Amino acid sequence: MLCELCYQKVKTKRHIYNLFDPEIHHLCEACYQKYPLFPKVSVYPIEHYELRHYLMSSKHYSQNPSAYMSMLQTYYVIFLKHYSSHIFLYFDILEDNHLSLMDSLKLGNLFVVSLYENIEEKGE
Ligand SMILES: [Zn+2]
Repeated sequence: MLCELCYQKVKTKRHIYNLFDPEIHHLCEACYQKYPLFPKVSVYPIEHYELRHYLMSSKHYSQNPSAYMSMLQTYYVIFLKHYSSHIFLYFDILEDNHLSLMDSLKLGNLFVVSLYENIEEKGE
């Protein structure tokens, strides 16, 4: 499989325990070193419910978001183990208007994962 950023072949060390495992990573080690993830968790109160926001990278690299798709497994496991009653939503880039839209829809408890965010911090 080729890296989604540099288009070089993704090399995985093979040993007896992962010999027949499929290649799932779309990002090579060199690109991950260059563009690492900086995860952050925030909880926002919305109308009678909560919105858990898992931000994968607090730095915006403007790279191809599909390169990081194999990193979503962690968030799926957290969702299924602890927050399976919430609604799972994924955004490549979370904008301010997405939050206000989700607040007004009153869908219930939300579990939102986004690769990047484009939200201005507002002081109170
Ligand atoms: Zn690469």
